[in-house]
Amino acid sequence: MGDMELDEFRKYGHQVIDWIADYLAHPERYPVMSQVEPGWIRKNLPENPPEEPESMNVILKDMEQYILPGITHWNHPAFFAYFAISGSGPGILGELLSAAFNVNAMLWKTSPAATELEEVVLDWLRQMMGLSDSFIGIINDTASVSTLCAMVAAREAITDFKTRSHGLTGHSKLPRLRLYTSEQAHSSVEKAAIVIGIGKEGVRKVSIDDEFRMDAEALKIAIKEDISNGWRPFSVVATVGTTSTTSIDPIMKIADICDEYKLWLHVDAAYAGTAAIIPEMRYVLDGCERADSIVVNPHKWLFAPIDISAFYCRKPDILRRTFSLVPEYLKTNEENVVHNYMDYGIQLGRRFRALKLWMIIRYFGKIGIINRLSEHISMAREFTSWVDDSSNFERLAPVPFSVVCFRANPWVRKGRLIRNEDEEYLNTLNEKLLNEINATGQTYLSHTYLRGKFTLRLAIGNIRTTREEVKKTWDLLQQYFVKLDKQLRPR
Ligand SMILES: *Cc1c(COP(=O)(O)O)cnc(C)c1O
Repeated sequence: MGDMELDEFRKYGHQVIDWIADYLAHPERYPVMSQVEPGWIRKNLPENPPEEPESMNVILKDMEQYILPGITHWNHPAFFAYFAISGSGPGILGELLSAAFNVNAMLWKTSPAATELEEVVLDWLRQMMGLSDSFIGIINDTASVSTLCAMVAAREAITDFKTRSHGLTGHSKLPRLRLYTSEQAHSSVEKAAIVIGIGKEGVRKVSIDDEFRMDAEALKIAIKEDISNGWRPFSVVATVGTTSTTSIDPIMKIADICDEYKLWLHVDAAYAGTAAIIPEMRYVLDGCERADSIVVNPHKWLFAPIDISAFYCRKPDILRRTFSLVPEYLKTNEENVVHNYMDYGIQLGRRFRALKLWMIIRYFGKIGIINRLSEHISMAREFTSWVDDSSNFERLAPVPFSVVCFRANPWVRKGRLIRNEDEEYLNTLNEKLLNEINATGQTYLSHTYLRGKFTLRLAIGNIRTTREEVKKTWDLLQQYFVKLDKQLRPR
């Protein structure tokens, strides 16, 4: 009976920490993208659970043998896909401690330190990003959930808090609700619409300008048109750092429109918000002080192990009226003097996520964070200059942060030198190029489509990424481009 013997815990604890340090010291031992076939891991694991206890030794060996090959190494310095993220040293230690405490941060009383540290740390982050103290922070697991919470609150605010009682269906009192976001917005916005009951038709996607930013003029026209057709506009979700190209919507102009039509302005800055910690980059959040809510993910670009999302709201009372539902057994005496975070979101049980962020911010300091984020931006700019100077590659979007959108597109001689205009060929070439360089295991990029063009995305964000890694990826791209262009170019 009982838990693992503490002597044994100590022994394997030391062993696991050593294992992690070796793992982080030798990323070259692992292909960045897992190379296993679908089903490989399941095939290697027993179908039935063990009857008898097994030793930690054997379990850890199996982890190396059967789990590790199926890991795609997001913590690898040559991980450049999606948005590169980091489980930093202090972040990993923070996770370890919060597992040891294993507290539930649902009420202040259920662990005062968890609640108060959440307040302190999110206030630090708010200050570092230069947001006003009218924003109250709440930690969620992901940006998807933060955006969902914002949309639920916006829906309640526009329906006078009646939807939480009466629901959206079965009565005709409510006009159809609509929210606005750009064509480049993250899919979590549409998912939120599905969950809050307005459906995908309740989302109107506003067109973008030539730099992939929401067209504020088009937004206004859409709102007017919808109102005259009987819709009730209630929210705009703008993005600072869109998922494909990291474009920045014109928040100031959008905020004006939201003021005029009394719409809840939510800003999705999941990836790029933390860039505002760099004084020269503070402008990326210009206008956000006028938003009703904003989401920033420390697990994206602030070195926190996944997951932790910081949700800031200027209308905490609305959040509370939206979500609070306190059964008798959860009533406490401190309700008027403390935050009971369960009242501000969907979850009751809440992990102690603030601890790792506290340790990260203290360990690196604001200066250390600024230097690291700046270095990522600088590496991305350097890569951008290589692309811009290349006769075989071209850039497909501006680079405001640390993500570069580009593709192979060689100059060809047609009387004079011009870019290859055979889009079908270019799409095939770039898709093959991506697959082949990812299959080397030495780097990992992802892709998107921009205006019908298969686009390669290099995202820099891992704390251990160096210029050397970025250069190696550039060399690989060139090497595989030459080979594939020879094989594939139509004659
Ligand atoms: C990553 C990202 C999301 C989704 O974040 P999760 O925390 O995975 O839900 C949403 N919006 C933007 C702009 C993102 O970059």
